[in-house]
Amino acid sequence: MTMSTVGAVAAPKITARNVSKIYPSVDGSMLALDDFSLDVADGEFLAIVGPSGCGKSTFLRMLAGLEEISAGAIDIRRSDVPGKPLNSVVFQEYAIFPWKTLLDNVAFGLEMRGIGRKERLETARYWLDRVGLSKFAGYYPHQISGGMKQRVSIIRALANDPEVLLMDEPLGALDAQTRVVLQEELLRIWEETRKTVVYITHSLDEAVLLGDRVILMSAQPGRRLATFDIDLPRPRTIDAMNTTRFAEYRAAIWDQLSREVSRAMEIAP
Ligand code: ADP
Repeated sequence: MTMSTVGAVAAPKITARNVSKIYPSVDGSMLALDDFSLDVADGEFLAIVGPSGCGKSTFLRMLAGLEEISAGAIDIRRSDVPGKPLNSVVFQEYAIFPWKTLLDNVAFGLEMRGIGRKERLETARYWLDRVGLSKFAGYYPHQISGGMKQRVSIIRALANDPEVLLMDEPLGALDAQTRVVLQEELLRIWEETRKTVVYITHSLDEAVLLGDRVILMSAQPGRRLATFDIDLPRPRTIDAMNTTRFAEYRAAIWDQLSREVSRAMEIAP
């Protein structure tokens, strides 16, 4: 018997339920994240924005299993493909090994998973090719620019084929022009792979350009303040930024974010 899927809603890929984080502090404890709940659909690109210190990175690290959860629960649903890592993380700092070539850097995660040399190098070459870095395969990180290094970090994460890709300000350290080039690159790669992504950024432009949804968090303690569905057509290119619709989304998010930023400045010690 086949069940009708009409009206059925697929189970979310990521579920966060009433998640809180308390850090020890000089005067006892500090509530960094308060009762934060979130569902991310399979194949969704979710962007999170919020004032500095609102707990975005904390939440991402908890999703990645790098930080303990004080209360609540996080679940990442596995697909039926065996052996996939649950997540890969891309941080602002280029996390690539200076002593390895670009090819070996991209292949590193696969090596850790015990994938044979031939297959992992093939996969790494494929990804280098997809971002135009094939001819630099034998280069070392010190021989390439910051933008190229971050491209390598991103494809290294993707080459791992994780269930979800977690990105914390991945383009934050780049100059404005390089950033735009990588935004375009990210858009293109994501449109092709449709990975489930949680993406933290300070840039509203980036959030609206890339995201299917943008979640706005409140100043500390981080709570979920607003959700914006970004209904811009896909596939998107950087040109989407020149549309009225884009400007409207940006303005609507900024309207709320600016109030939170002011509030965060008032409560800052
Ligand atoms: P965001 O990424 O939104 O800027 P973070 O998640 O980095 O915010 O930080 C949220 C709050 O938790 C901040 O007040 C920060 O100082 C505090 N914090 C972050 N990490 C730690 C830690 N390891 N120990 C104590 N406090 C922390």
